[in-house]
Amino acid sequence: MKRPIVSTVGICVLALTCSASVTYKAKLNWHECTAQESAYPKTVAEIQNIIQTGKPPFKAIGALHSTSDVICTSGTVINMASFDSFSIDTATHTVTVGSGAHLQNVQSALQSAGYALIHTTQFGGISIAGGMGTGAHGSTLRHNSNLGEMTIQLKAVLANGTVATFNQDSDLRHWRTHLGFLGVVFEVTLNIVPLFKVHASISHYSESILDDLGTLATDQDTFMAWWYPNIEKVVTYTGKFVDVATSGSGVWNLVPDVSPIVQDLLSVPLDLQADWCVLEYATYSDMVGNVLVRDVTSLIRPPFLTTGNGLYSSSAVGYPASMIMSTCSPESDCTWSSFQVASFAVAVPIERFADAIAIIQDILSKTPFCLPLTGIFFRFSAATDTSMAVEYKRTTVHIELDTLIVDGVEPSYGRTFLRRLVTEVEGRMHWGKNSRDDFYAIYPLQNITAGTKEFILYASTIDPNGVFRNDFSTLLGV
Ligand SMILES: Cc1cc2nc3c(=O)[nH]c(=O)nc-3n(C[C@H](O)[C@H](O)[C@H](O)COP(=O)(O)OP(=O)(O)OC[C@H]3O[C@@H](n4cnc5c(N)ncnc54)[C@H](O)[C@@H]3O)c2cc1C
Repeated sequence: MKRPIVSTVGICVLALTCSASVTYKAKLNWHECTAQESAYPKTVAEIQNIIQTGKPPFKAIGALHSTSDVICTSGTVINMASFDSFSIDTATHTVTVGSGAHLQNVQSALQSAGYALIHTTQFGGISIAGGMGTGAHGSTLRHNSNLGEMTIQLKAVLANGTVATFNQDSDLRHWRTHLGFLGVVFEVTLNIVPLFKVHASISHYSESILDDLGTLATDQDTFMAWWYPNIEKVVTYTGKFVDVATSGSGVWNLVPDVSPIVQDLLSVPLDLQADWCVLEYATYSDMVGNVLVRDVTSLIRPPFLTTGNGLYSSSAVGYPASMIMSTCSPESDCTWSSFQVASFAVAVPIERFADAIAIIQDILSKTPFCLPLTGIFFRFSAATDTSMAVEYKRTTVHIELDTLIVDGVEPSYGRTFLRRLVTEVEGRMHWGKNSRDDFYAIYPLQNITAGTKEFILYASTIDPNGVFRNDFSTLLGV
């Protein structure tokens, strides 16, 4: 498999806008978008100039880690990477950051100053406004799970080119998952807390534990689980927040660097499903530190959890930037620089969790498949009032199935998984995961929430001429 050119609008990097037609790709599944112009503003005045004189529709982008059409535009794509400022206010316990700042950098800088975001997504390579844009979540029922929920103020350039500040819940509840449809966000202020550490434990069980996962998640600061149906096992990550003085410099490697050499080696046999089953077992073994295969899996990735000494450990204490989040860097060392990755992700009300498991078991019984990356991934979030959040007004379990795309074709069981969870257990598709084609096939079957209707109304007020819309907004009725 050939490594793609995963770049957006690199040839125009020195200019404010480039008028040649430009293609850019989602990094994970290599979904391609074509715009007429690209822009790299460095100041707010430059953003205003782009909106007033450039070619609409406009689409601000972050790190391009979304896989759906949410990142595409036929007009002007605005790369916000230059907006990466960082400023802490110790009096109000807030941090104000540029919208393009990467989450991993923000959490690390906060750590140096003795603060932290209470929770983050599990991948740190996303931008602040991009993460908010799709409602990117972590896994906690006790704290704010989404970046948007921690946001108390944001500044944006609106459709008419003016600058606006939003700090009232009546506005923020729409901006917290904005999908890039409301304006170009250039600055975000988030609540922060005094620095803490995370005591993480990895455990493994037979799959009979599946029924109890929702209850187990309830009492934890953070809790995640991975189900390996072919070997009938479940791995859990239990995280307790502990005093910052607790000793430990642990590191969690959910999304680690994978050496390009190993990626090239692996790409040879991966077209065979049997090899995927071997990899599924290897991933499970790596998570639980199975010594029999550790030497093999350690070639592919560093230990899943380590106290910092480079060896696997089933428990470790460390800072949230290294224990809740992980990031491959540089991008050439991320799995998706060699492999096209499909991500199928649906949010289900927690009361329907058991039904969702039964559906997945039924799909597996009819179409057996193995998952070479992280099994079936479960995370948990509390209910929210944010209009476009998948957790809108319900406690949620996020169910995710990631796999490799061979020869550009997604496996068909992925769409079956989405369709059945959406139609049978009121599933809501993750805006930034799932492919363009899956959205067009399945989203029309999804229940439209009252929150979505309110967002549509808000968007039509704030951007009456559809300056920030795209095909994805048309699909959503925005
Ligand atoms: C390896 C990996 C792990 C992931 N882990 C998680 C996870 O733990 N939890 C989770 O929920 N998701 C996860 N995701 C999905 C990812 O967090 C979301 O897709 C997120 O939105 C990507 O952020 P981004 O900076 O790449 O934004 P982009 O993908 O570039 O953009 C996302 C949206 O935000 C808008 N946007 C971006 N910047 C601006 C701006 N300045 N102003 C206005 N609109 C803007 C865009 O228009 C678009 O609508 C993961 C993705 C990958 C590849």
